[in-house]
Amino acid sequence: MEEEYLTAVDVKHYAYCPRIVYFTHVLHLQERTTEAMLYGSESHDESVIAPVAARLRASKIIRDLELVSDRLKLRGKLDYLIVTKFNELIPVEVKWTEPIGEAVKRDHRLQLASYALMVEENFGRTVKRAVVYYTRAKKLLSTPLDEDIKNEAKRTLKSIFHMISEEELPKAVKHKRCINCGFKDYCKPLV
Ligand code: SF4
Repeated sequence: MEEEYLTAVDVKHYAYCPRIVYFTHVLHLQERTTEAMLYGSESHDESVIAPVAARLRASKIIRDLELVSDRLKLRGKLDYLIVTKFNELIPVEVKWTEPIGEAVKRDHRLQLASYALMVEENFGRTVKRAVVYYTRAKKLLSTPLDEDIKNEAKRTLKSIFHMISEEELPKAVKHKRCINCGFKDYCKPLV
């Protein structure tokens, strides 16, 4: 049997609610299409990346970059990798959802840290920061990617592999995030 790889989106989902990854990887259920998913798929045009590229002083933009790490058993498709005129590598994700204040959401940071680990392995260079463009709010937020967040992404991967191998159903979260969850029909959310 082919060995299972996780994705950077799995890491994001686990940080949002571990049950989502249980549903996708243990029960192999498909997420109901949410409003955010529909809008998100429409928002990746060049008009989005142009101001981001200008702000970051890009010399090169790689779109829909497929990444893989055999070491971490991790893969994913990054929206954009920007190479700046100073030769810095900056992962960029475009999100339809709203940020919380002026900070990149924790689940998004972990997704970006996962991409950063793969960029580092594939390009042989350290990734120091990433950027999220929140299209609804028209906000461009930068987040530092230090060793702490990269190690947290690695620990999250380990936790997910453990959950999958043990087939442990994680506790439901009690949070307003259940309201828009694509797995609400399969779950018994506590809201
Ligand atoms: S409905 Fe709530 S508890 Fe259930 S998977 Fe979604 S976010 Fe998690």
